[in-house]
Amino acid sequence: MATAIEVTQSPRRTALYIVSRELAKISSLLPSNPMRSIIVHSLVDALGLLAPSYSPSRRLVAVTPKRTSPSTLAMYHTQDYLDFILNPENTVDADATNLTDFGLEDDCPMFKGLSEYAPLVAGATLTAVSALVNGLSDEAICWDGGRHHAQKSHASGFCYVADCILALLALKRCPPLAGTPNRKPRIMYLDLDLHFSDAVSQAFYSTRPTGNIQVLTLSLHHSAPGFFPLSELSALSNPADASYDAATLSIPLHKGASDTTYARVWKLVEKVRDTYNPDFVVVQCGLDALAGDPCATFNWSLGTRDGSLGWCINRIHKEWSGKKLYLGGGGYHSANAARAWAYLTSIILDNPLPLDTNIPDHSGFPLYAPSFTLDVPAGNMLDENTEVYLQSVEERYEIIISSLHERLEVCSAA
Ligand SMILES: [Zn+2]
Repeated sequence: MATAIEVTQSPRRTALYIVSRELAKISSLLPSNPMRSIIVHSLVDALGLLAPSYSPSRRLVAVTPKRTSPSTLAMYHTQDYLDFILNPENTVDADATNLTDFGLEDDCPMFKGLSEYAPLVAGATLTAVSALVNGLSDEAICWDGGRHHAQKSHASGFCYVADCILALLALKRCPPLAGTPNRKPRIMYLDLDLHFSDAVSQAFYSTRPTGNIQVLTLSLHHSAPGFFPLSELSALSNPADASYDAATLSIPLHKGASDTTYARVWKLVEKVRDTYNPDFVVVQCGLDALAGDPCATFNWSLGTRDGSLGWCINRIHKEWSGKKLYLGGGGYHSANAARAWAYLTSIILDNPLPLDTNIPDHSGFPLYAPSFTLDVPAGNMLDENTEVYLQSVEERYEIIISSLHERLEVCSAA
């Protein structure tokens, strides 16, 4: 694994990659994704993406994450929760009532190393934020981040620490940028995970939806009765609802969502982006919507076709202005997670790997059977997102985009 080096090149010629042996080792303890982090970083390294010669136009610069302080974690999490998870003694001898109170059971069991994991994973994402804010690069990658379900006072949905929310709070504090000296930076959070970004969306949701929008959240996800997470905000956003907030947007999709469906709704994502015109874009690149994931709910391909995950990230990388932070998230087929995040990394380096690239010989090689190539192709699942449904989403988003435009006009006139 590469060691961190100083960033000395132009921000446009570098992309930052948050990694260290310690981060990979500690992230690999996550009970929902054992060893995944080591598998991902090993493949990125084995494919040569960290080599200075990989791309003629951009260089991937490894940056060692800084552990974040308890006081920074307390910008979102409650002190009781932090006191509990940051005490290593609780990993071996904890009171059962406390474990229940803090959500440390079922899909979020207490694990040895949690007291190290939380400050290091949050610190990894915040290291990327700080590098972007300080102008070291326009794009940063932190595949160990993206824990979008972690709540203020309890763990939830495999997530113990709310690095996405802490990142957005840190970006909110960023002073006005040179091009827009009269307004605070606008931050767009786009969540591509199979599951709704409940904690993040709720954290920035306003019940008094007026005034400036500093953080806009948009989640593409599966939603169905009983499907995790249960949240009223996960329904198709509706300006006619009394609880509607133009800055908290949601596009729920039915089972089997394919590249074709993503290509349709991506036009809406880009209309939101064009209307909001953010200075920073935080993309949660969870991979559990990909075909082959054990969640077996969507049929998204990694590929190059319009609407594929790679195509979407390439659009953001090439066409979207502003500084970008790419985070990880779900993804429970570890070899496919490594394939996908390595491929996305190569896109961000302006030199996408061919999808028939052979997996190089390295310690994780046997995990890539039987194809031993980079591709994560679509399967045969039926796409239940009908023409009628997609048209209804498009019609709703026409109203949403028009109301967003009006709200931003009022803000800029005030
Ligand atoms: Zn997920």
